Amino acid sequence: MLRLWNTLSREKEPLPDRKELRLFVCGPTVNDYAHIGHARTYIFFDFLARYLRARGRDVFYLQNITNIDDKIIRRAAEEGKKAADVADFFMEAYLADMAALGIGMSADGKEKAEKIIYAPATKFIPQIAAQVERLAQKGFAYRIEGDGWYFDIAKFAGYGKLSGRTALQAEDSVSRIDESVGKRNKGDFCLWKFSKPGEPEWPAPQIGAGRPGWHIEDTAISEFYFGPQYEIHGGGVDLKFPHHEAEIAQQESASGKAPFVRIWMHTGALLVDGRKMSKSLGNFVTIRGFLEKYGANVLRWIALTHHYRSPIDYTEESAAQAAHTLDGIANFLAKLEFLAEGTRAGTPEPLKPLEEAEEKLEDDLNVPQALAGALAFASELQPALWNIPREEAAAALSQFRRFFGMFGFDFAPPPEIPENARKLAAERDEFRGNKQFDKADALRRKINGLGFDIEDTPKGPFLWPQPKNHN
Ligand code: AMP
Repeated sequence: MLRLWNTLSREKEPLPDRKELRLFVCGPTVNDYAHIGHARTYIFFDFLARYLRARGRDVFYLQNITNIDDKIIRRAAEEGKKAADVADFFMEAYLADMAALGIGMSADGKEKAEKIIYAPATKFIPQIAAQVERLAQKGFAYRIEGDGWYFDIAKFAGYGKLSGRTALQAEDSVSRIDESVGKRNKGDFCLWKFSKPGEPEWPAPQIGAGRPGWHIEDTAISEFYFGPQYEIHGGGVDLKFPHHEAEIAQQESASGKAPFVRIWMHTGALLVDGRKMSKSLGNFVTIRGFLEKYGANVLRWIALTHHYRSPIDYTEESAAQAAHTLDGIANFLAKLEFLAEGTRAGTPEPLKPLEEAEEKLEDDLNVPQALAGALAFASELQPALWNIPREEAAAALSQFRRFFGMFGFDFAPPPEIPENARKLAAERDEFRGNKQFDKADALRRKINGLGFDIEDTPKGPFLWPQPKNHN
């Protein structure tokens, strides 16, 4: 039975017994291009949705996009642009990056089978304003003239239950908490900001024109689609406090219902060369920069071969290593395809080692162990690979493809071998048959020159593109 670590209960728990699982994941703030840290988090939740769907659940995957925020306003001011234009530009870029990573796509990238609903904050202003108004009516929110509406954390007894901080400890923290001289408690956070001159604002008759604070969009959007309670909330560990704590306070106060969310899931941070990514350190790797060099599978491999709750220390070396491993898998699949000679697998018997590898997922999604199990099984098959009968090769191929597809890896069919390379390989085979090895070797070099390696097998020559140098 699948059990997931719940940050809230600090235990592994079974999934709620419900066919439809509602999953909300915090989306990005679109003030810049998305980086590989974002990719780590979103590849993982893409896998989670795929896996739950493969196990027969209907997953309603919802993600907000913070398209109005101080950071966006600041960037727009620096560049002399409108905040909305900056946000629109980077939101489009984000969606394109997600598509390039195969996120929300079927394994072959053709269909949006793993659909995600993206909800930009500015499309939900009436819902946001209404939630702030409700919090004010119930006495949880107060107004500071000229500044905005704030949540009074002293009014919500459960404040701190997710992160393990008390309201008093929250007093120490100023991390991403808006400051205002008029706040009742230091940890109070802003729900709605009255805009300064030149800043974007939206009309809101009951609470006064302004713009949303950072935390309120998530609960207004999730309440709109899911209602006041749902099954799974995800995000990076950096959001546990204060962001997710604020979400709980907002939604449980607004609805009077608890728990707001059954299972809270947090991904570990991705670091680059042991440090937090930042422009000033020069170690900021965007998704598109990464994809210029490596394929989407490489980033997916890096993300998924670390347990989702562990940090990842990214280095160029780890990308080259991942690319090498993936080349090996593609080569293995191509050999099975070569051996299958076009035979289609019927409904093959499950392969025990792959089943055992898949079982590792039951324990809080141990993807690294599941993938390691599949690789170990592939290695075991290697020595006697060329003796596998055609039907067995076809069955193994379909099962390995299904297995890797479950994680969202896309192993394209083996490349077409060009006619000239195939002809040379056939001629070389004849020379070998006649023991004319010098001539055979000369043809091997020619084939290499065309960019292919050649392996002699009992089933004839197997050609494979020479590995790219990933350094
Ligand atoms: P942001 O755009 O910073 O609001 O982040 C959007 C999502 O990406 C959140 O769930 C973050 O926790 C996650 N995220 C941002 N940076 C990283 C990182 N370096 N490693 C892992 N997740 C990250």
